[in-house]
Amino acid sequence: MNCPYCGHNDSKVIDSRDVNDGIRRRRQCLSCGSRFTTYERLQPASLFVIKKDERREEFNKNKLLAGIRKACEKRPLPTGTVDKLADDIEAELYQLSKTEIPTTVIGDMVMERLKNLDHVAYIRFASVYREFTDITALKREVDTLLSAEAEVPRPTSQLPLIPVEQSAGLAKGHRRRRK
Ligand SMILES: [Zn+2]
Repeated sequence: MNCPYCGHNDSKVIDSRDVNDGIRRRRQCLSCGSRFTTYERLQPASLFVIKKDERREEFNKNKLLAGIRKACEKRPLPTGTVDKLADDIEAELYQLSKTEIPTTVIGDMVMERLKNLDHVAYIRFASVYREFTDITALKREVDTLLSAEAEVPRPTSQLPLIPVEQSAGLAKGHRRRRK
């Protein structure tokens, strides 16, 4: 910060205090000794997304929200799920501390979350976002999803429909009838 009186580029801070939304600093020029005040405020970060055609566009949370909402339409998800998902992604994007983020990164973030949330929503989102041009590409995605699902052992909370002894009895009875 140059001195407003003589233009010298160095000053010392003689007082510093927090004000509503920033810090107020009282400075003294190291050259002419004049005193002046500076304010330091947090600059609201503006975030741009780089689209597939390289165009830049300011990040728009409502657009993100609309995309997720569309994918989750009529899915049995608890109220607020979609908003929370968009909030989480927005927070994560700002945490990256970048000024430009490719749309693909955002898309991948949504996909990753939807995959764990709802498979139908995931496929819907993927089909738009990945722009599946043919049914083969879509099928491949579904297959990947299903095989990943098969790897995760699900807890068997459901009781067997027929008790073991009874089913054994039925098998015996069946054999007897065949004799
Ligand atoms: Zn000065």
